[in-house]
Amino acid sequence: MTPTAAPVAPTTPAATDTHCPYCSLQCGMRLAPVGPAGSAPAGPPVEVLERPDFPVNRGALCGKGRTAPALLARGARLTGPLLRDRPGGPLRSASWPEALDRVAAGLARVRDEHGPDAVGVFGGGGLTNEKAYLLGKFARVVLGTANIDYNGRFCMSSAAAAHRRAFGLDRGLPFPLADLPHTGCLVLVGGNPAETMPPAVRYLRELRENGGTLIVVDPRRTRTAELADLHLQPRPGGDLALALGLLHLVIADGLLDQDFIAERTSGFAAARESAMAHWPDRVERITGVPVHQLRMAARMFGEAATGMVLTARGAEQHSKGTDTVGAWINLCLATGKSGRPYSGYGCLTGQGNGQGGREHGQKADQLPGYRSIEDPAARAHVAAVWGVPAASLPGPGVSAYELLDGLGRPGGVKALLLAGSNPAVSAPNAGQITERLRALDLLVVADLVLSETARLADVVLPVTQWAEEDGTTTNLEGRVILRRRALDPPDGVRGELWLLRELAARLGVPDGFPAEAEQAFEELRRASAGGDADYAGISYARIAAEDGVFWPCPAEGHPGTPRLFLDRYATPDGRARFAEVTHRPAAEEPDEDYPLYLTTGRVLAQYQSGAQTRRVAELNAAAPGPYVELHPRLAQRLGVADGEPLAVTSRRGRAVAPARITEAIRPDTVFMPFHWAGAGRANSLTNPALDPVSRMPEFKLCAVRVERVHREAGT
Ligand code: SF4
Repeated sequence: MTPTAAPVAPTTPAATDTHCPYCSLQCGMRLAPVGPAGSAPAGPPVEVLERPDFPVNRGALCGKGRTAPALLARGARLTGPLLRDRPGGPLRSASWPEALDRVAAGLARVRDEHGPDAVGVFGGGGLTNEKAYLLGKFARVVLGTANIDYNGRFCMSSAAAAHRRAFGLDRGLPFPLADLPHTGCLVLVGGNPAETMPPAVRYLRELRENGGTLIVVDPRRTRTAELADLHLQPRPGGDLALALGLLHLVIADGLLDQDFIAERTSGFAAARESAMAHWPDRVERITGVPVHQLRMAARMFGEAATGMVLTARGAEQHSKGTDTVGAWINLCLATGKSGRPYSGYGCLTGQGNGQGGREHGQKADQLPGYRSIEDPAARAHVAAVWGVPAASLPGPGVSAYELLDGLGRPGGVKALLLAGSNPAVSAPNAGQITERLRALDLLVVADLVLSETARLADVVLPVTQWAEEDGTTTNLEGRVILRRRALDPPDGVRGELWLLRELAARLGVPDGFPAEAEQAFEELRRASAGGDADYAGISYARIAAEDGVFWPCPAEGHPGTPRLFLDRYATPDGRARFAEVTHRPAAEEPDEDYPLYLTTGRVLAQYQSGAQTRRVAELNAAAPGPYVELHPRLAQRLGVADGEPLAVTSRRGRAVAPARITEAIRPDTVFMPFHWAGAGRANSLTNPALDPVSRMPEFKLCAVRVERVHREAGT
């Protein structure tokens, strides 16, 4: 599937301008009712129309966005709460009062018996800003627990940590996407927008039409890599050494911007010393990228008048992800490609609200407005907005994987409220995490479908979807946008804001949890005021009138900030900081027993854990199941034919999926997409080794053994 224009929108008052529920591009779309008013169609109740006036995607949508209404159909989703009366028993239908009473009583019991930190909250990067904000408030004010984190930790946390370390502030892109076509050289590291966000590929094509060059760094020759002027194909885990090697060559070739380094940065001496220890031959040995390609890339980037580096999960989901991103930022800073128009480092965030979801309080160490939960002034500000003593707010909790791995263990979380996430498929070492979810005294899942995680729950609460509710998200550019309610949800379905209000009231906090999204946003504005991610000047009316507003926007008269760091960085001295980084191996490298690299990723027609997209017939037809991508030479060595089932085994588990033989992958590496549960679950294999700064697990690299299934079975 390629980006397609939906049918052209008629001008009808019944149509609603909104945004796609899936990825961080948050494409604008228009929804129009299907059938006459008041009718109840058997299929999706709305259809997607083109919305060419929204600047990010200009009407183009990928197949995921175009088919998103399929899940609004009655038969495709949950329409009433479900309860389990005894462990191992079946889920049965329940009324909302019964379900909410059960949840409140269970949370209160665990809190009273084991203390507030025995109750946990796990959120998602797809939740709106309002939901993320009130989920964080619910955890800290109602439950009093430190243990809240979210699946965005598995997504952009390494880039966020490196961003803050270098620039003092983390926003995915410090410039609008519209700047991309005007840069001289764009390096895309570990990202595949041609499959993950196809409408964004237009910016890459325009860049090349304008005479700019595109370098793609990826162990696989992806559809995006095929668009590039130069494709560097390092071993998984080689991105850090590669960036250091390019900086080495930039220094050797005299392509530094000495004035920029002197005037706007600090810490270059240490970065230089580390880069000089990564000479070309050494980097070729580490990464597998030939020296002549390294030289070519260094010259293309170093000699361009302007340049950008964008990283995505391929570079970030490593136990050295923060340092890897830091090394690429170093390359930008050393060449003066930051803090000026059409230059800079950015991260392509993944989930629909991956950016906003981490700004407003569902991350273990943060309060709304991107404030540190350990900062006394931040605690005082937020506590005042919430009307509670600052001392009553808990401190930082543990990160997502640590939270999940501790479920049901002594000292760990015993009752978990989970919203907008499916860790039974998406967490690393997913077999182990599934066991931990089963070990809970109480698992409550709020979701729109019966995901693999919801199937394990004691209580399942069916919640509204994107088109059935108002709410804001913040796209990968830092643009706060507004999703509008286009239709009513089915009778048995409720919004998460309502749900939090009801639970808070049952747990003794009757006020402070508005069920209306705009009311919640108004409070979020006040809570974020003065913070890094300052939304104080943003209102629903402004977002609608201005095609979104870029944060920081500290006052209603403020225009918002599409471009960051043009005058100064957000560090105390206003200078960007070089990272002191050096190459190190992955937590697990191939060896005799597990001789191959496994890397994981996404495909065009599925999204994240697949809980939604696997229920859409058109998407399933395009991408029906998992597979193991391997090079013909490896296939020959194993004696494997295309389509034959392969067993992939790591130290954590085993997955079985058909072989897909392609020259697009390195012979020392196999690839599996991670959207599926069951025997082909890629995350049965992945390594939860954590980055020491961001606590990001090493999804992108582990050591595996690959065998033919029938040979392994001895038949
Ligand atoms: Fe746009 Fe992403 Fe939705 Fe596709 S999934 S339509 S790229 S927002």
